[in-house]
Amino acid sequence: MTASFSNLQLAEPLARAVAEMGYEFMTPIQAEAIPVVLTGKDVMGAAQTGTGKTAAFSLPLLQRLLKHENASTSPARHPVRALVLLPTRELADQVAQQVKLYAKHTNLRSAVVFGGMDMKPQTLELKKGVEVLVATPGRLLDHIEAKNAVLNQVEYVVLDEADRMLDIGFLPDLQRILSYLPKQRTTLLFSATFSPEIKRLASSYLQDPVTIEVARPNETASTVEQRFYSVGDDDKRRALKQIVRQRGLTQAFVFVNSKLGCARLARSLEREGLKTTALHGDKSQDERLKALAAFKAGEVDLLVATDVAARGLDIKDVPAVFNFDVPFNAEDYVHRIGRTGRAGASGLAVTFVSGSDGRLVADLEKLLKKTIEIEAVEYEEDRPRGRINDGRRTWREAGELGDPRDALDALPRAAAADAPRAERPPRPQREYRPAAAPRDPFFDQPYEAPATAAPPAWETSAKPVGSRVSANIKPKRKLAALFKSDAPAQSPSDTPA
Ligand code: AMP
Repeated sequence: MTASFSNLQLAEPLARAVAEMGYEFMTPIQAEAIPVVLTGKDVMGAAQTGTGKTAAFSLPLLQRLLKHENASTSPARHPVRALVLLPTRELADQVAQQVKLYAKHTNLRSAVVFGGMDMKPQTLELKKGVEVLVATPGRLLDHIEAKNAVLNQVEYVVLDEADRMLDIGFLPDLQRILSYLPKQRTTLLFSATFSPEIKRLASSYLQDPVTIEVARPNETASTVEQRFYSVGDDDKRRALKQIVRQRGLTQAFVFVNSKLGCARLARSLEREGLKTTALHGDKSQDERLKALAAFKAGEVDLLVATDVAARGLDIKDVPAVFNFDVPFNAEDYVHRIGRTGRAGASGLAVTFVSGSDGRLVADLEKLLKKTIEIEAVEYEEDRPRGRINDGRRTWREAGELGDPRDALDALPRAAAADAPRAERPPRPQREYRPAAAPRDPFFDQPYEAPATAAPPAWETSAKPVGSRVSANIKPKRKLAALFKSDAPAQSPSDTPA
């Protein structure tokens, strides 16, 4: 049964904000997590991005913080009470924007701090006092060292996208940050997977957590049509453009495996007249935010991205996702195609499989627990494209210039199936059948905390925060203190790949 927000008895200012957002029914993670968080229990949640998990933790946190709400201008009356940690700047920015919207009719203040930006404006905001602080770990430590952020009154901490934070190498930073928080607190951990490292993190920092799993990490949304095509590396661009045109797609994400490949592909597509932008870790923060905004505003049709740069981006209703490269990590496939087919909308996920991808496809089959059928691409005849390449056009315009017969020699699709048989050549297919992969028992088991009482190695080896001197922090008083400390350790910056 779908639960309505009205069953929750949210405080009026929060209920009003939710209504203004247009939400009526709770998503499954919200229906499960909100009542638990409202009781103050720790939660270990497995939920894909796009499931509504931001509201699942933000709304009950705000509700519980309302008892501290006050209109005082004194910073002392607005200490940090809830801390939300995320792996990337974009995610932090998105979550902070959502929190602001949910809290807009309250006197609770929120702020976001992430790397790659000047610390000063963030410092000014922190000094004024905020109840909810959203942050990436590296930059938060900078602010802690500079004494801009004091965390001794934190009652709630959220570790969002925890698996990705560990992937990026934030574990020591997380551990340091958590050491600053009062022991008496509520801890919420959200992760796409419950890997052994995540379980260890949870058993160290969560108390008696309630485990909530709404979509298993190896599940993909059933509303996404998944197609796999055999395409040689040199033909991928051509296949991409053909599918885009034939499907009449308006916007798409294109995933590639490397930063270099990302930049190159975006440049080539742009040269070929498609409005394309690239999103990868070598772009400046400003460029990345601009790229995202342009895509959201519909000014850009194709967003070419690497996995880390695109993880969790709150871009809804992307009609299609292309895996230009089969992801190295099978789980990234689930994250990639999670950009499409959200909230019940139908989506298309197209994966190009080249000759050397056999092992990666076998990994995918193991994760998805199904045999992947790989189809051949029927290319349109090479024919002059008229004005297509003589200026910047969207593919929609390009498509309009194309031959209307395109619809018939389109790639296999439901609509084309209605076309007269004689005009369509039989659809060549190749079944890819790797040796049967053994089932991974991890995905068949519910979460269990490890029995071992020994603390994980990283717990004992962590250095005190004083040993980490950030490039962003200028020594305030004693210059000698700089020389006494260890060589400045390069924290994994908040820069994803
Ligand atoms: P998240 O998984 O938190 O990134 O949320 C994905 C998107 O779903 C966000 O744009 C939210 O605004 C939206 N959303 C969250 N909860 C609901 C809801 N109950 N009904 C409709 N949309 C929602």
